[in-house]
Amino acid sequence: MKYIGCHLSASAGNLAMVRTAESIGANTFAFFTRNPRGSKAKKEDPADAAAAMAALGEKGFGALVAHGAYTMNLCTADPDARAFAREVLCDDLRRMAALPGQYYNFHPGSHVGQGVEAGIGYIADALKKALEPGYPVTVLLETMAGKGSEIGGRFEELKAIIDAVGSDHVGVCLDTCHVYDGGYDIVKDLDGVLAEFDRVIGLDRLEALHLNDSKNPFASHKDRHACIGQGSLGLDTFRAIINHPLIGDRPMILETPNELPGYRAEIELLRSMES
Ligand code: FE
Ligand code: FE
Ligand code: ZN
Repeated sequence: MKYIGCHLSASAGNLAMVRTAESIGANTFAFFTRNPRGSKAKKEDPADAAAAMAALGEKGFGALVAHGAYTMNLCTADPDARAFAREVLCDDLRRMAALPGQYYNFHPGSHVGQGVEAGIGYIADALKKALEPGYPVTVLLETMAGKGSEIGGRFEELKAIIDAVGSDHVGVCLDTCHVYDGGYDIVKDLDGVLAEFDRVIGLDRLEALHLNDSKNPFASHKDRHACIGQGSLGLDTFRAIINHPLIGDRPMILETPNELPGYRAEIELLRSMES
């Protein structure tokens, strides 16, 4: 069974997202835990979360991959802004308890000139504080394109965060557009990149995938998503990824420039390439 889905709007609630996902052939999905460009979170609705959990089980969905706000920069330079980002992370992880067993993915952050090492330290500290023992959530650091001072463009940086946090509840979400833009050639050498991931981080930490084609050429460090098969990655790359014996069983989330009909078509396309 392949778990394929896309990013959905969270505005109508958790159960509504399960229904929407089902209607477009998805059996996993992603959603923002709060306004992606702001910080406002929705009012908690335990009955909706419980109903969504029951529906996920009934319909045999794979794990969901919630996404933290883009604005949450745990390693920003201003101490007040950093403290605020930590509070947002704490609140998000606490809220994930209503959806036990699902993933929480976020962008590690941008060190804005403070240096990679300082940035990694801030991110790891924030995670150590926010990830209370017993929380039923696994946090996923996203592989980044290495745009500007982004942390997470190299596997070594993610590994350093994972080691510093020292929890089993930290893993990685591999974004295909980001890694290709970041200089890992999954078009010409997918097996080589996965071997490198395994050597540096360990494939047991690779918990989820973001499936995006890229509008930019290899190693451009740009991060602009294209629809599947319409960018520099191409259909053959996605065929190889979804059928790969080492990673093809992970939840796979589309974050391509689409509305629901486009997502439905891409999910169908990916499922048609299953071998
Ligand atoms: Fe992301
Ligand atoms: Fe992504
Ligand atoms: Zn991206």
